[in-house]
Amino acid sequence: MKGKPTSNGGPAKKIAVNTDKTQLLRPNHDLFERVKELNCLYGISRLMENRELAIEEILKGVADLIPPAWQYPEITGARISLKKRQFQTNNFRETPWEQKEPIIVSGSEVGTLEVCYLQEKPFAYEGPFLKEEKELIHVLVERLGNIIEYKNAENSIRSLYEREKKLRKKLQKEMHSRVDFSRKLIHELKTPLTSLMATSQYLLLLEQTQGSELGKAAGLVWEGANRLNTRIEELHDVIKGEVGTLKLNLKPSAIVHLLSSMAEETRALARDHGISINIEADQSLPDVIADPERIRQVLLNLVNNACKYASEGKRVIIRATWDSASTVKIEVRDHGPGIAKDKQRVLFKPGYQVSHGGESPGGLGIGLTLCKMLVSLHGGRIWVESKLGHGSSFFFTLPVANESKK
Ligand code: ADP
Repeated sequence: MKGKPTSNGGPAKKIAVNTDKTQLLRPNHDLFERVKELNCLYGISRLMENRELAIEEILKGVADLIPPAWQYPEITGARISLKKRQFQTNNFRETPWEQKEPIIVSGSEVGTLEVCYLQEKPFAYEGPFLKEEKELIHVLVERLGNIIEYKNAENSIRSLYEREKKLRKKLQKEMHSRVDFSRKLIHELKTPLTSLMATSQYLLLLEQTQGSELGKAAGLVWEGANRLNTRIEELHDVIKGEVGTLKLNLKPSAIVHLLSSMAEETRALARDHGISINIEADQSLPDVIADPERIRQVLLNLVNNACKYASEGKRVIIRATWDSASTVKIEVRDHGPGIAKDKQRVLFKPGYQVSHGGESPGGLGIGLTLCKMLVSLHGGRIWVESKLGHGSSFFFTLPVANESKK
């Protein structure tokens, strides 16, 4: 077709008109190209968000998202190469019209991203590729680096978790066999002890009726066997507490009953240690939720320790008061040597002992551990307040049965 004649009679300047049209359409074209890039980046974000996908699926997905973002999608192929694996579009093949960028993770090159045109195309910014495509491939390798780093971290967390799960299982198995062994050991120890206690008690009865020397010896045997029995039971309780099988029989209980349930033992302790024991209970105290037998055990342990360390002629005080609107506080106070601040923190840990005046304290260091376990099972707290040379106060709290009429 011929060009329209111009005013000077020459041929029409068709090229100039065409250029104007291209320029008019340019923003639209550019916008379209940017939308394609954004789609590609958005698709990659969606792939990254999908926690179900393995790294292989994500990388294959990224490769497939690349061609539509390039100028000639139908002749574009993409390939992501890692050390031993490659993820590529189905049409990918190496050609001379290629863009290639390294993928960097933590400062090291872990692979490359290649984008190839399968046919020759006119020169643009870098070979047949646009400036924007050069920029996009930069962004893509950066994203790929992030994906690989994230997935590597996820994999190592997963394998750590699996390892931890295996170890936990192994530990549980070992713990159960240890508990089983302890149970058998305790049974073995207690069986002869029980008959020893029964026989010595029988001999004690004979002593009361006949007053024999043998009876006195039987009394000593009974005391020793009884002490040993208590220690074995404590050890058993601590083991159960450690594996979570120590159970309570909770019920509303009057504080006065809890305190008086050990009156006989406290009298004997006072007599043996040459001290006096005072019990003070606030009359307004409500019932608490407690396992009476277990609280008796806690109290006896604390009072026993207090008597052991109390200075002769001094008093041990057992005092029950309100702690808060929902808790009652029981204190066992002595006037013994006291406990240094740094030792107070570790006192409730198993096996921990404090020597007073350089002497070995004896015992196993499990009495306070068991007290803590039992008080915690009640939902209470246990602690010590003490000053060297001024004695110690051991406190524990118990929840009140009916919140509260303080
Ligand atoms: P054990 O089971 O051997 O009797 P405990 O767990 O009852 O041990 O006590 C741990 C350590 O705390 C003991 O070595 C003892 O020296 C110290 N202790 C406990 N009660 C008192 C107290 N009232 N005064 C001073 N020291 C105490």
